Amino acid sequence: MTINDYKFAGKKAIVRVDFNVPLNENGQITDDTRIRGALPTLKHILEEGGALIIMSHMGKPKGKVVAKYSLKQIVDAVSAALGTPVQFAEDCAKAAEQAAALKAGEVLLLENLRYYPEEEGKPVGIDKEDPAYEEAKKAMKASQKEFAKTLASYADCYVNDAFGTAHRKHASTAVIADYFDADNKMLGYLMEKEVEAVDNILKNIKRPFTAIMGGSKVSTKIGIIENLMDKVDNLILCGGMTYTFAKANGGEIGKSICENDKLELALDIIAQAKAKGVNLVLATDCVAADDFCNEANTQICSSKAIPEGWEGVDAGPESRKAFAAAIEGAKTILWNGPAGVFEFDNFAAGSKAIAEAIATATDNGAYSLIGGGDSVACVNKFGMADRVSYISTGGGALLEAIEGKVLPGVAAIKG
Ligand code: AMP
Repeated sequence: MTINDYKFAGKKAIVRVDFNVPLNENGQITDDTRIRGALPTLKHILEEGGALIIMSHMGKPKGKVVAKYSLKQIVDAVSAALGTPVQFAEDCAKAAEQAAALKAGEVLLLENLRYYPEEEGKPVGIDKEDPAYEEAKKAMKASQKEFAKTLASYADCYVNDAFGTAHRKHASTAVIADYFDADNKMLGYLMEKEVEAVDNILKNIKRPFTAIMGGSKVSTKIGIIENLMDKVDNLILCGGMTYTFAKANGGEIGKSICENDKLELALDIIAQAKAKGVNLVLATDCVAADDFCNEANTQICSSKAIPEGWEGVDAGPESRKAFAAAIEGAKTILWNGPAGVFEFDNFAAGSKAIAEAIATATDNGAYSLIGGGDSVACVNKFGMADRVSYISTGGGALLEAIEGKVLPGVAAIKG
């Protein structure tokens, strides 16, 4: 079923959203992006004459009631965003009466799902090494099903719009879907957009396809690099991982960040690219700094000849040109991870060059997807957020999807 086809009139919809918004010490929301992200789905259901039961997690209360993670703190903000009063259920697993009393157009927000260990389904208070662990896990899985069944009993249909947790097989993100038939469960608009974005770079690829992977380490990106290797025409590897590649190629890298146990892996990636005809673009020059701070002295040098006591902190001018050339001619672009320590203005030029090239390519008709916290922060910092095709809201979920993994939250609905 799709959200556009479903007839919500007179129906109660239980909607999993990601309202895990950051709060300050006074319990005030400091960034409401996630609430705004769910509004199209929530408003659509209300406008169509449905009643809403909204559920989410907040923080990591680890299966216990922890006041600072109470969703009660955001009731007023959700109410203001929806333009209608929002009722609150103090206990998400004991909300049957409140749910039953809901009329068309009314809204009930459930307390933090993760106050119950059943939400995540991991046994608490028992070590993985404990011989009784497997039994405890089995028991927890059984009570997770009961918990999901209780949540499901509140509503006629289930909508998942929490892309940020789509890579988790939790009670509210996946298990609950078992209690609704295919005609009564669907993705929300945000989820639909995220799934489409991933399809655009993994399935419906317009060529040439350029992927830019940056960030600090190669080890955390290897799954993605390997999955993309079969799909991309150009692969730019930049950021801190540059120096692992430079060292593996016999370079001197000073005190640059380097994963010494990944030198073989770096050589293997280079060989894979060659074998698969992928144009691998590595930074040939860099901005080297004598300290890890914005005011450090800097010099431009070869990425393979960094003086002792200096470290590579950004892509150099020659590399920026090479990156831009591989990006500007592309028709599909994926960017994850900065090209340097962009948080310091003096080391942001490489990431800015990438953002600008992506914006230019997008102006010329390319599809561009930006995902993963830091690259999103980059396009925001450089004011280019509205010049790219799509900015993903789901860090971990997006990365797992790009690695080619099936997301339980999506599979539970789409099969
Ligand atoms: P990740 O979480 O792996 O995507 O890495 C993002 C972080 O990598 C950002 O905070 C950057 O400051 C950092 N980073 C990028 N380039 C470098 C570099 N050359 N040296 C150290 N850190 C870097």
